[in-house]
Amino acid sequence: MSNENMAELLFPDIQQLPADIYSQSPPRNLSSSAFVTRFAPSPTGSLNIGGLYATLISERLAHQSNGVFFLRIEDTDKKREIKGSMENIINALSYAGIPFDEGPLLSGGEKGVYGPYKQSSRIQIYKVFIKHLVRNGLAYPCFCDADGLQKIRISQQNLKATTGYYGEWAKHRNISLEQAKEEIVNGKPFVIRLKSPGSSDRRIMYNDLVKGPIEFPENDQDIVIMKTDGLPTYHFAHAIDDYLMGTTHVIRGDEWLSSVPIHLQLFETLGFRTPEYGHIAPIMKQVGASKRKFSKRKDLDGTAQFYKEQGYPGIAISEYFMNLINSNFEEWRMANPYESFKDFSISTNKMNASGALFDMDKLNDISKDVISRLTGNRVFDHLYTWSKEMDPEFYNCIDKNKEYTVNILNIGRPTEKPRKDYSKWSDVKPMIAFFYDDLFEVDIQSGYKVPANVSVEAAKEIVRGYSKIYRFNNEKDAWFQKIKELAGELGYAKDMKQYKASPDNYNGHVGDVAMVIRIALTNRANTPDLFDIMKIMGEKRVLLRMRRFLGDMK
Ligand code: GLU
Repeated sequence: MSNENMAELLFPDIQQLPADIYSQSPPRNLSSSAFVTRFAPSPTGSLNIGGLYATLISERLAHQSNGVFFLRIEDTDKKREIKGSMENIINALSYAGIPFDEGPLLSGGEKGVYGPYKQSSRIQIYKVFIKHLVRNGLAYPCFCDADGLQKIRISQQNLKATTGYYGEWAKHRNISLEQAKEEIVNGKPFVIRLKSPGSSDRRIMYNDLVKGPIEFPENDQDIVIMKTDGLPTYHFAHAIDDYLMGTTHVIRGDEWLSSVPIHLQLFETLGFRTPEYGHIAPIMKQVGASKRKFSKRKDLDGTAQFYKEQGYPGIAISEYFMNLINSNFEEWRMANPYESFKDFSISTNKMNASGALFDMDKLNDISKDVISRLTGNRVFDHLYTWSKEMDPEFYNCIDKNKEYTVNILNIGRPTEKPRKDYSKWSDVKPMIAFFYDDLFEVDIQSGYKVPANVSVEAAKEIVRGYSKIYRFNNEKDAWFQKIKELAGELGYAKDMKQYKASPDNYNGHVGDVAMVIRIALTNRANTPDLFDIMKIMGEKRVLLRMRRFLGDMK
């Protein structure tokens, strides 16, 4: 019996040869400096921020070099698959503004000619290569079940030998093809293993894009490349795909670093050019004084979804990640405040080899900057889309008052030094709710927050007085002049200097008067400029609110 016969026995339905597959995936027509990168998640849940971070790096490396960035779904482990993960991943990428050129689409189709981009649709392709390896004596069927493997492990442990399936311990590596045939004909379940040419005595040197040169012992384990269900393992499938899809650079989490010897060996055995690998440390979370990895189960703020729900603009997340990727980005950003972050070229050798810390305060600051540079109309569009999904009550409010809302959002922008009050869309409602009559009504049910140093009677006197002299058309100077005059009439100092010189002569100062008017109109001690607020609220609403205040204050 020859290897050729064994290959036929194992894969009678597979007629194609690797050459047929190569002709379907010709080399990409790109310049030699172009990077082809990919994000290759397994659909096992929601996308975490570490994954999003690695993905932004991959996307930037591809697009800054006029290359290609694609998405591949690695779904060959059906037991671990969680329904809806692919959709979740695609949505998260689109939220974060990380575009992919090729890959599966939400509509169910795909874009790109190097597909299919879901591994479960590529099973035939993997089998062509597995058959090819068997035909060349480079892979073989192994019939060990869990019990058999356990026995080997126990013997190894007793002898203090390295555990695993390798060398002399690889029971089915050295059985005759006839013996193997008998097992197959008898219907014994089997996996296919790669016949490792490696030896743990020899070492390989490899240069990681992020971590630099690393030395490993060669892989000598006969790894499984096809499971009993006929599906390939991740190791095998990823090698086939990265080669056929023309991947030049792989950026991934450093939990994969120890697999590098296996991956290099696979590429070599298959006769493929190896991509370059860069392994990044996980992003860490600050908890009290210590740092730790984000926990999948415990830390909601470790998922991309959390930031979307909170309403961080996707671009703020990317902008923040740029700071973590290359620390010189910050300097560049200062010199180029209005450029897109995509105009900055990242480099892998300037990346932090140890885990970067996720700094929420920094993200908030960056996000405030990003939002402050938007026009009121743009902020409105974002808020509208976000609230539709996340805060329907607020959505109804702004939907009924579109123009009014844009005017509110335009307070303090666009100016040289725009207001930086929102870091995320969920910050907006608490800050501007008082503008909307329905929400204001609810707020004053629990009472007006008049400062303790002003009596109810004094507050009413101020509002009563002001409602008589208030004129909507007054410009800012005249408007303020009126408040000062009112202050004077009611025994308050017209300015702070006057008041400080002899506080006992006054009921308070002009600031107290303005504060009472502010409370009557907004029930807030801290608001943007009162004059701006009154302009936006309009004459009718201002008068109504003052009347309301006078009626309610007892
Ligand atoms: N499917 C693997 C994962 O879930 C991808 C590893 C790689 O990028 O090679 O992380």
